[in-house]
Amino acid sequence: MTALTTATSTPLVVAFADGDGTMAEILGGKGAGLAQMTRLGLPVPGGFTVTTAACREYLREGHEPEALAGELAAALTRLEETAGRALGDPVDPLLVSVRSGARFSMPGMMETILDVGLTDEVVTAVAARQGARFAWDSYRRLVQMYGRTVLGVDAALFEERLARARADAGVATDQELSATALEEVTSDFRRLLREHAGEDLPQDPREQLHRAVLAVFASWTGDRARRYRAHEGISEDLGTAVNIVQMVFGNRGRRSGSGVCFTRNPATGDPVPYGDYLVDAQGEDVVNGSRRTMDLAELGAREPALHQELIGHLNTLERHYRDVCDVEFTVEEGRLWILQTRVGKRSPAAAFRIACDLHDEGVIDLDEALCRVDGHQLASLLHPGFATDSGEQPVAHGLAASPGAATGRAVFDAVTAMEWGRRGERVVLVRPETSPDDLGGLLAAVAVVTARGGLTSHAAVVARGLGRTCVTGVEGLEVDETGRRAGLPGGLTLAEGDAVSVDGSTGEVFLGSREVVPSACATAIRSWSHLEEGAPYLSHPDPTVRSVGRLLAHADRRRTGGVRANAETPTDARAAREYGAEGIGLARTEHMLLGDRRTLVEQVVTGDERAAALVRIEELARVEFEQILQEMDGLPTVVRLLDPPLHEFLPDLVDLEVHTAVARAGGAPDADAERRLVLVRRWHEQNPMLGLRGVRLLAAVPELVTAQVRALAEAAVSLRARGLDPRPEVMVPLVADVRELTAALTRIRDEVDGVATAHGAALQVPLGVMIELPRAALTSGRLAEEVDFFSFGTNDLTQTTWGMSRDDAETSFLAAYRESGTLATDPFSTLDDVGVGRLIRLSVQEGRLTRPTLGLGVCGEHAGDPDSIHLLLAAGVDYLSCSPPRVPVARLEAGRYAVLSTAGGATGSDTR
Ligand code: PEP
Ligand code: MG
Repeated sequence: MTALTTATSTPLVVAFADGDGTMAEILGGKGAGLAQMTRLGLPVPGGFTVTTAACREYLREGHEPEALAGELAAALTRLEETAGRALGDPVDPLLVSVRSGARFSMPGMMETILDVGLTDEVVTAVAARQGARFAWDSYRRLVQMYGRTVLGVDAALFEERLARARADAGVATDQELSATALEEVTSDFRRLLREHAGEDLPQDPREQLHRAVLAVFASWTGDRARRYRAHEGISEDLGTAVNIVQMVFGNRGRRSGSGVCFTRNPATGDPVPYGDYLVDAQGEDVVNGSRRTMDLAELGAREPALHQELIGHLNTLERHYRDVCDVEFTVEEGRLWILQTRVGKRSPAAAFRIACDLHDEGVIDLDEALCRVDGHQLASLLHPGFATDSGEQPVAHGLAASPGAATGRAVFDAVTAMEWGRRGERVVLVRPETSPDDLGGLLAAVAVVTARGGLTSHAAVVARGLGRTCVTGVEGLEVDETGRRAGLPGGLTLAEGDAVSVDGSTGEVFLGSREVVPSACATAIRSWSHLEEGAPYLSHPDPTVRSVGRLLAHADRRRTGGVRANAETPTDARAAREYGAEGIGLARTEHMLLGDRRTLVEQVVTGDERAAALVRIEELARVEFEQILQEMDGLPTVVRLLDPPLHEFLPDLVDLEVHTAVARAGGAPDADAERRLVLVRRWHEQNPMLGLRGVRLLAAVPELVTAQVRALAEAAVSLRARGLDPRPEVMVPLVADVRELTAALTRIRDEVDGVATAHGAALQVPLGVMIELPRAALTSGRLAEEVDFFSFGTNDLTQTTWGMSRDDAETSFLAAYRESGTLATDPFSTLDDVGVGRLIRLSVQEGRLTRPTLGLGVCGEHAGDPDSIHLLLAAGVDYLSCSPPRVPVARLEAGRYAVLSTAGGATGSDTR
C-alpha cells in the first residue's frame, strides 16, 4: 500500500488507487469498496479517503490532526491531475462529493455533501458548459447541504423555501423548477445561512472541502448515529472515514440517471439482479422514493449496452466478494459510473436461500453457508403469518419489502410510535416515506408501511435489517401527519389508533386485526423428524424452507452442544420434540398448583383437610408427569421442584383485606375470611423474589415438594411397567448454600427410594442444582460434590448479580438506560458476559474440577438468544434449554459456534 503520508503510523489520507477491500478498518466500508472496485478495473470516479484514524483523532482531541490539511492538499492535487480538472477552475471545474463511510454500514445516519467546489464564479462556468438549470440546481443543493451539515441550519427552512418555489411555479417536483427559480432559491438559501448561522457559503472551494470533511467527522456523534450504533452494537470508538469523490451527474437529462441494485433479489434471494433506476436524477432521489423508479429489465430495454455493462460489473463484484453485493451507480450522458458497493443487506428468507445457492454454485462450502445466516434471521422466519382462509380483502397493496405479518394500531409519526411502544402497544408505523430520523419509530413498531419507496428505500432496507414486517410504495396511501390519519384507496380512512394488519411477504395491507398463524418454515420444521435419514426438507417446494432445512441439518451435524427445551405441559413437550429438542432441560412445575388448584395449596398451608389435599395434588401431578415423560420417551426430562414465592399460591392479600373490611363495616364479619386473612398476612413478603421461594419452600411446606417427587417417581415406574423409557431428572432451585442442597437431596432420595421399593423397581434419577444465585456460583466446587448436574438459571442469576428486578427493570429504568446509552443491551435478553458470564465460567471450572463428569446446562432465557449462545457454549456448558419455538434457533447457533470455534475445520458436505 502506498499511502499519501510520510508518517509510519496509520495514514490520514489514502487514494482509491492505493487501497483495497481489506482495509475497511481505516477506509470504512465505502472507502474500501471504492478502492477495491478501482483495483478490479470498474469505472469508479477518482477520489481518496480520509481515514477513520483522522476522525478518531479529531473526536479525541477536539481538533483535526496537524498533518491533515497538508495530506488533503496533496491528495487533491493528485486527484486534479488524474481528473484533468481543478477545483475552483473558472473554465472546467472539478466538483467533488464528501461522503461519510464507517467501518460498519450505518445507512443514512451520517452526513454527505455534494457538489463541493461550486462558487459564484464556478457556477457561471458550469452554466456555460452544462446549462444554467443544471448549474443552479447543483449550487442550491450545495448551499442546502452545506448549510444544514456544516453550519447546522434547520433542514425544514430549506424545504419550506423549496415548497414555496414549487407552489409559485405551479409545479409538483423540484425537477420542474426553472433555472431562474433555482437561482432565486439559491440566493434565498444563502440568506438563510447568513441569518441563522451568521456566515455565507465560503467562496474558496478548498475551505468548503476542508470544513465539509470536519462536519462529516462530527456527524459521527450526532443523535441518530449514536442511537443506531447503540441498537446495532457498533462501538462508539470506531469513527468514520470520509470519501472525497469526483462528482458525476445523473441529473443531466434523459441519457443520465441514478440507480441502486443488488446482484440478487434482496427480499426473496432469487438469483437474478434486482434494482431501481431513475432517469435524470441523483442518488438520493432513488432512495427517498419521491419518484417512481424503473426496474433493471426496463433499463435493459431502454439502454441495452449500458444494462449489459452493469450486469458484467455486478458479476465481477459477486465473484470477488463471494456474496451478494449492492451497488449504487450513476449514468452521466450515457456513461456508467459505479459509486459504491458493499456486501448487500438481505431479508432473512433471502439470506438462507442465497447461502445455499452460493454453495450449490461452488462459491462457498456448507460451513461458510452456515456462517452466512444466523439465529436472528431464523427466528424471524419462524414468526407467524396471517391465516390465509380468512377471506378478508386487502385495502391497499404495496411492495413486499420485508417479510412477516403483524397486526397493530396505526400511528403516523416516530415519536408517537415510541411513546405507544414504550407502554406496551403493538404499533404499525405508517409514513409517506421514512428517513433516518424515523429510526426510533421503526424500532418501536411491529410493522412499517410507507406510501412511497421501493425495495431499496430507507424503510425497506432498515426494516429488513431489523427483521420488521414492511410494505413500501403503497399505491393510493396518503398520509396526513398533522391530521393523524391516512387516506386509503376507495375513499377509506385510517385514523390514529385504528387496528391495521400488514403482510410483508405479499405487500398487502388490511384494516382491522387478523388472525395470525405459524410460519411455513416453523410448520415444515415441526413436520420433519430432524434425526431421520433422507433429508425430508429437500422435497419442500419453497426454496427458502428447503435452504433452512439444509443449513439446520448441517448445524446438527456440526454441533456438539445439546439443545433441550423448557416445557412443562404435554403439549409443550410435543412441540419441543417436533422442533428438534433432545430432552427437557427445565420443566417448571408451579403451573400444576395454580388456577383452581390454588385452594389445594391453601388447604395444605392451613392444615384444613391437608392429607386429602396432598393426595389430590400428588395424583394430579402424577398424571401430568406421566404424559410429559411419555412425550419425551427415551429423552432426559429435568423436573424442577416448586420455585415461586409461597404467597403466589395463596389468595390475594388486598382482595381479602377489602372483603373483610366491607363485611365488618356491614356489621356481618366473615369469620372464614378473617381466618384466611391472618394466614395470608403471615406469609406476605415485601420482597418476595428474595424471599420464601425455591429450595426454601422445603422449610415451610415440605409436603408439597415431596408430593411432587413421589408423583414423578410414580409416573416413571408406571411408564417403565408399560415398556417405555422415561428418563426423569430432578433439580433444586434457588440454592445459595450446600446445606440447603443436601437437606433437599436427602428428602428427594428418600422419596424416590420409597417409591422404587414399594414397586420393587430400580429407579435412577439424576439430581441437579440450579445455579441462579451468585453464592451458588461462587461455591460451585462444594455444590458439585453433591449433584450430577448444574443448570444455570440465568434469569435469576442476572437479577441477583445485577441486583435489578427482572419484572420491573425494563419499565422502571432499563429502557431509559438504553436510550441514553448507559447500557447498550438489556442483560436479561443478552448475557452480560463480563459479570454474569464470569460467574458462569467460574462455576463451570470449579464444578468440573470437583466432578469431571458434572453435566452442565443453561435454562434461562439466554439459552435461546443468538447473541448469548456462543458465550454460553464458550463457557463450557453441555446443553442449552430454551422455549420450544427457539429450539431451531439454538440448534443453528450451536452449529455455527462449532464451525466458528474450530477455525479451519473440515469442509461440510450436504446430504444430497
Ligand atoms: C432462571 O432463573 O433462569 C430460571 C430458568 O428459572 P425461572 O425463570 O423459572 O426463575
Ligand atoms: Mg429462576
